[in-house]
Amino acid sequence: MSKSRCFVDIMASNAGVTGTCHVLPIKLPNKEECKIAIDCGMFQGNVNGKNDDGDIIDKLNRNLIFDPSTLDALLISHNHIDHTGRIPLLCKKGFRGKIYLSEDTKTLLPYALNDSCSVLNNLAEMRNTKALYNESDVSQALSQTESLHFKRKTKINDYTTVTLFQNGHLIGAALILVQIKYPGENQINLLFTGDWNNKNVFLDVQKLPEWVLDLPLTVIIESTYGTSNSSDVHECLADNVARCIRSGGTVVIPAFALGRFQEILYLIKEMQRQKYLSSDISIWGDGKLGINYTKLMLEGKVLVKPSMMDFLPDNFNFVDKPTRNKLLVDTSSKIIVTTSGSGSYGPAIAYIPEYAKRKNAQIHFTSLFTPEGSLAYKLKNTKKGEAVDIGGRKIILQADTFYTGEISAHAKGDELIEFLKKFKNLQYVLVNHGEPDVKEKFSDRILKEIDVKEVGILNRDYVFRIGAYGLEKTINTKYK
Ligand SMILES: [Zn+2]
Repeated sequence: MSKSRCFVDIMASNAGVTGTCHVLPIKLPNKEECKIAIDCGMFQGNVNGKNDDGDIIDKLNRNLIFDPSTLDALLISHNHIDHTGRIPLLCKKGFRGKIYLSEDTKTLLPYALNDSCSVLNNLAEMRNTKALYNESDVSQALSQTESLHFKRKTKINDYTTVTLFQNGHLIGAALILVQIKYPGENQINLLFTGDWNNKNVFLDVQKLPEWVLDLPLTVIIESTYGTSNSSDVHECLADNVARCIRSGGTVVIPAFALGRFQEILYLIKEMQRQKYLSSDISIWGDGKLGINYTKLMLEGKVLVKPSMMDFLPDNFNFVDKPTRNKLLVDTSSKIIVTTSGSGSYGPAIAYIPEYAKRKNAQIHFTSLFTPEGSLAYKLKNTKKGEAVDIGGRKIILQADTFYTGEISAHAKGDELIEFLKKFKNLQYVLVNHGEPDVKEKFSDRILKEIDVKEVGILNRDYVFRIGAYGLEKTINTKYK
């Protein structure tokens, strides 16, 4: 088979689940080149930026795998900081092309980037270094954004078309289809899942249209929970919460600001409706970003299905600073939902050390995956009764701690496989966004269960070259 003259290289900036960024240099037969990137996220995981992990993560965040001034366009899959957090850095380093994203992601992004900017400023102050970027870089980035409607094809240059499709992972999240067509060459079709879920309690997620399922396609798929299945989830958040409240305790639920935060509030409302939880128990929501996103949803500024607009529980209040100080010394039974999901940022940093040392308390993380170096990871590796260092503060862990994937925003292994089975002409699958051993095992499973020519694992060591006839070769980045 002759090699195609039109091809695209797929490079990944990360090997794990944070710092997601893919760069696609596209080479055309007329010698024209174009470079687009999908997402540009922050590496995450450190608790206070002072430990070794913090240094490594800081270094990773400062190093981009390409020169941003040579980038023509950026496509954003969804508004999570591990996919968007370094966009302002691209602009700081000279990127002036368009940033394409869904309408709701365009609404949500300013909140995430401004919050990220203030976290970075605090970290820089603590570490006595320069922040990764500043407010004007954030403004510059936001001025370059251009929203796209779901399902509408958009030509971003003479040869490249982009289409976004709704994705249940998050409000505004998109699957991204990139199609490269040069006269006389077969079309190259790449579908990036970003983080993916087939369902979302706040949305009626649209199905992928038939014309996409029929395409000769390369799918770049996430694998965060590629080796987990829904049946693996034994913890029941509602049962755990009810048990702690019955014994007069306090439950602290660290939650990601968008999606999880609101879903937990809805779950509590359902517990009240089913009389599983008394409406006398006070419910508190803390964290600027979580509160802002909740208000955007309640005000209808982003798409929420009508039946889910009223998701706040009874006896619920947002927390301001003076109230937070009271809650930190309060001993009455209550539920506090707070950012951040991994416990490493936001008011969770104040609540967790305070409540982790109390016997009648429960810290309930709402994710099975705990990024290495995060507070969630630290507590997961600490037994009850053992000492733990939380940002320099030593405490004995007395509270119960739980980690549940019950309300995960990511599809599990079986659902990812079902998703791949829907495509009728799958050429090649590249696995990304997972821990190295998960990516390995999930790739093996795809090979066994899916009708596909080849499966590859994306990381920083290899670049995959896809031509009009599928995979052409992998290139070791060291020899590139
Ligand atoms: Zn995500």
